[in-house]
Amino acid sequence: MAPLDPAFIDLRSDTKTKPTPEMLQAMMTAELGDDMNAEDPTVNRLEAMICEMLGMEAAVFACSGTQSNQMGVRAHCLPGDELLIHELGHIAMFEGGGPAILSGVSCRTLSGEKGMLALENVRGKIRADDQHLCRTRLLCVENTTNAGGGHYYPLDQLTEICDWAHENGLKTHMDGARVFNATVAGGYSIAEVCKPLDTISICFSKGLGCPMGSILAGPKEEIAKARRSRKVFGGALRQAGIVAAACIYALENNIERLQEDHDNARFLAEQLAGIDGISINPAETETNLVFFDIAPEHGNAMQLSAALKELGVGIGAMGETRLRACTHLDITREQIEQVAPIVQKALQQGLEKYAGIATGPYARG
Ligand SMILES: *Cc1c(COP(=O)(O)O)cnc(C)c1O
Repeated sequence: MAPLDPAFIDLRSDTKTKPTPEMLQAMMTAELGDDMNAEDPTVNRLEAMICEMLGMEAAVFACSGTQSNQMGVRAHCLPGDELLIHELGHIAMFEGGGPAILSGVSCRTLSGEKGMLALENVRGKIRADDQHLCRTRLLCVENTTNAGGGHYYPLDQLTEICDWAHENGLKTHMDGARVFNATVAGGYSIAEVCKPLDTISICFSKGLGCPMGSILAGPKEEIAKARRSRKVFGGALRQAGIVAAACIYALENNIERLQEDHDNARFLAEQLAGIDGISINPAETETNLVFFDIAPEHGNAMQLSAALKELGVGIGAMGETRLRACTHLDITREQIEQVAPIVQKALQQGLEKYAGIATGPYARG
């Protein structure tokens, strides 16, 4: 794809952010060493900072959220084991079959409201200790939910299912790719979220605005295992402090401002709600992900997405009629104000020109 026009309003993902001059400055002046030998002072500082914030014993830096999630799965499970996860969960849906490929683990997918699991969804789902059956070993939860709609776990619901998991001999892992969106929207602290968890994976490359980077935190023993699998999975780096410096900068500067992204998302949701041919309940936009549907008589989600692209707005299809817009650090209120009128224009023009675009399988990070 050719470089995008700088005026393009890119709401396809919160991974689209570019480092700010201040973040780049932090990267350029970072103290570096060989992280493979734990000699990179900046990576070490990031890992220590995360432990302190989360109230976790240990942490290990990783390249991507997929990698840190898969390191988590590997740390808790053995080949032949099974994990429990929501049917829309990233670990099961969007990581290329990682649990099977990298750990020999199968995913038992469960239904639940808004991409989240509650006690009634998980109860009875642990397999008996029997030679015919695989061993149920891990409960995975996602906060905020991605394909589930950008929702955050209420703390009591999270605590309830994690307590249930522990009482039944399971470990708990949170895919916290957007966990700081959850803490800001939910009004709870990251330490409170982590209390019922064994491990958590957090992305720096989403709302926090870093070019790359992720981290897995948890008990010493699991993180030591994860460090071994990180090497095997190709994620043990050398002077990784150049990236860790951006992550430290983001932890210090880019968490509270996520509220702006949430405000922009809610504003966009309210604007979209006023358009004929679009359906959305703005109250369901809880964080930075805005999900809405096109009325099928106008066309499908991929056709609308193609029309919007030509009009200078990037919004991806997430289903036959479903689209997702993401607000983030590089999107201003002025840009957001332009979006709903452009969506309206696309529908008014009609999507006949794109009639050849069929619905198909969807994937979004
Ligand atoms: C983006 C994302 C990840 C990790 O994705 P990477 O592209 O590998 O960094 C994991 N879980 C969820 C819910 C995500 O949205």
